[in-house]
Amino acid sequence: MALIVHKYGGTSMGSTERIRNVAKRVAKWARAGHQMVVVPSAMSGETNRLLGLAKELSPSKSTDAYSRELDMLAATGEQVSSALLAIALQAEGMNSVSYAGWQVPIRTNSAHTKARIESIDDTRVRADLDAGKVVIVTGFQGLDELGNITTLGRGGSDTSAVAVAAAMKAKECLIFTDVDGVYTTDPRVVPEARRLQKVSFEEMLEMASMGSKVLQIRAVEFAGKYKVKLRVLSSFTPWDIDINTEADSGTLITFEEDEHMEQAIVSGIAFTRDEAKISVLGVPDKPGIAYQILGAVAEANIEVDVIIQNISKEGKTDFSFTVNRGDYAKAMELLKEKVLSTLGAQEVIGDTKICKVTIVGIGMRSHVGVASKMFRVLSEEGINIQMISTSEIKTSVVIDEKYMELAVRSLHKAFDLDQSPA
Ligand code: ASP
Ligand code: MG
Repeated sequence: MALIVHKYGGTSMGSTERIRNVAKRVAKWARAGHQMVVVPSAMSGETNRLLGLAKELSPSKSTDAYSRELDMLAATGEQVSSALLAIALQAEGMNSVSYAGWQVPIRTNSAHTKARIESIDDTRVRADLDAGKVVIVTGFQGLDELGNITTLGRGGSDTSAVAVAAAMKAKECLIFTDVDGVYTTDPRVVPEARRLQKVSFEEMLEMASMGSKVLQIRAVEFAGKYKVKLRVLSSFTPWDIDINTEADSGTLITFEEDEHMEQAIVSGIAFTRDEAKISVLGVPDKPGIAYQILGAVAEANIEVDVIIQNISKEGKTDFSFTVNRGDYAKAMELLKEKVLSTLGAQEVIGDTKICKVTIVGIGMRSHVGVASKMFRVLSEEGINIQMISTSEIKTSVVIDEKYMELAVRSLHKAFDLDQSPA
């Protein structure tokens, strides 16, 4: 008998029919003797619908003024799905109870709409488990010091599930979703993409932060910090699939680079259109320019990703970096207003039609020439590289967004990701 956490995404909870299926699946696990904690997302589309209502009433750009109310609002989505799941489980003959984040409680900081979990009190949940109940805990939400409801940022139910698993020292956290695992890349772009049986935690972290949408990045960070065994698998298999088969399916996120680990040099290709490029041209090349440009951007709470600075010509240089596309307008405005004059730069230009393509693999640590192979493949396709950034286990390039699919497809092929490893 083990304590297991299941997390079900919005699509898996998308209708009463599907909730019934989730209940049957959870009941199967409980009847096999496991202690079950289930963390559901809101029914699919519900969080968007709720936030849309707020937008109708307050169409202004910034939501900062009422972010507390957005959390009150958005948190209801998970409360609905949790209660419905408890009811469905009871209809299956299971003893079940659901809790909102504040009832557990799951404590967070006060950063509304992007709060971070600080602690989880497991006393109440554990007592219920010991009394033979299946416990449902709402995903995505918590409670701050002042008693306000908070939410964890879009996709935050993944993080809730991993945090609950960590707090309760669960044997495993199973993330049930509408795909059957983590793929070498998005199968909608490359139909030959393969599911990875295992992926290392470090690779998963890179993939999540480089644009792969399978898991929220904070959930992966949390799993790493607390060594939570995590598995991503499909909720669209028949609910009565053999439990041992199910427990082995999907993609396991591992912490050891064990011998059976797939020995590919590159494990996956991530890509994102969510960034935009900004260049400050003709900046006097002197100490402190990077700080003046990026310091101002950071102060406005805008995250910067890839950065390059060119060599200087006649005492001037060009400085480029990428930001989230959603922050682009704000960053441009800020640079034009504040930085241009004080810095004595010539011009600020921007480009939103870019994308970032990243190859990820822990094998890159021990193999030379992986990045240059990437550059060769792109050059053979006539794709111009605008920016490059690397770490021990990844290489990213920024290119024109119209070449994104071509780049991903060619790289997938060139690194033999279409083929199962021997
Ligand atoms: N319901 C929230 C969202 O749509 C949280 C989640 O689904 O993980 O972002
Ligand atoms: Mg999700």
